[in-house]
Amino acid sequence: MTAPPFLRAAVMTAVDTTVVETRPVPALAPHEVLVEVRSVGVCGSDVHWYRDGRIGSTRVEDPLVLGHEASGVIVAVGAEVRDSRVGHRVALEPGVPCGRCGQCRSGRYNLCPDVRFFATPPVDGAFATHVALSSDFAHDVPDALDDDEAALIEPLAVALWAARKAGIGIGDRVLVSGAGPVGLLVLQVALAAGAEVCVSDVAAERLAVAADLGASTTVDPRSDPLPADRTVLIECSGVAAAIRAGIAALAPAGRAVLVGMAADGEVTLPLDVLQSREISLTGTFRYANQYPDAIALAASGRVDLRRLVTSVHPLGAVHDALLLPGRDRAALKPMVHPQQDEMTTA
Ligand SMILES: [Zn+2]
Ligand SMILES: [Zn+2]
Repeated sequence: MTAPPFLRAAVMTAVDTTVVETRPVPALAPHEVLVEVRSVGVCGSDVHWYRDGRIGSTRVEDPLVLGHEASGVIVAVGAEVRDSRVGHRVALEPGVPCGRCGQCRSGRYNLCPDVRFFATPPVDGAFATHVALSSDFAHDVPDALDDDEAALIEPLAVALWAARKAGIGIGDRVLVSGAGPVGLLVLQVALAAGAEVCVSDVAAERLAVAADLGASTTVDPRSDPLPADRTVLIECSGVAAAIRAGIAALAPAGRAVLVGMAADGEVTLPLDVLQSREISLTGTFRYANQYPDAIALAASGRVDLRRLVTSVHPLGAVHDALLLPGRDRAALKPMVHPQQDEMTTA
């Protein structure tokens, strides 16, 4: 395998606008690999950048390549990387930290202030035929995982990190609020850890998937009460009312982990519940050191990543893939296959 001179990238040039561009393949730093991208999942954050042009106070100012849930095959290596890595199928961990600051040296590299994360301005993402990445962040995947599953190791790492923050184990009664892709993955991780899981959401289609994947109860909180006495809340919706109701459903000494991002960044919380029941409450930001375990968990078959894949699109249809989740509640993960001919439709 050799590196081509040019790559093709789907570039967001303005809100709701994508242009496929030909660009030179970047020169590899000594520790980098060049990956031929095979599959990229569309994430809610990609959709926010694309539709709103911003997340919180960070704006898309310049042309940006979106996509951070990616897999592919290594086709070239930098001077300090073993040649034997060429040909390896890999899941791409999209955030490369500095490796030197206090947070990095403490193992919490997700909190590195200098992390460079795919598809977060000004760092380009993976909706492209090729990307360069630090070799240590291109994780080998076994053949038990196909290219889509390898791409979805990224949201699985988010789910695994959240489940571990909550210390989920045998005997836990978990409430997952929000049955989007991350919620459905948290559900599966919690089941694999031996917990019993209730899932709440307002979309019947998504609750049906949750039931299918093994949730013992599914609840639409608009019409039914949440079960009480939960030991763990993993909040994946970011909706203020869901955060409050989820905390209120916790038993004394319950643990709450907030994964979903609140739209306006500020939410009123029931402090009387937090205090009188000694609830532990934390947020999560991405993940650190989760890829190897996420890959092993998916390869073991205990987490079904394929169940999340709802459509596949060629590179020229990134725009359609980004609009789908907003149009169809049943669209969990549109996947982009950058090697597919741009004129074909899947
Ligand atoms: Zn994501
Ligand atoms: Zn750092």
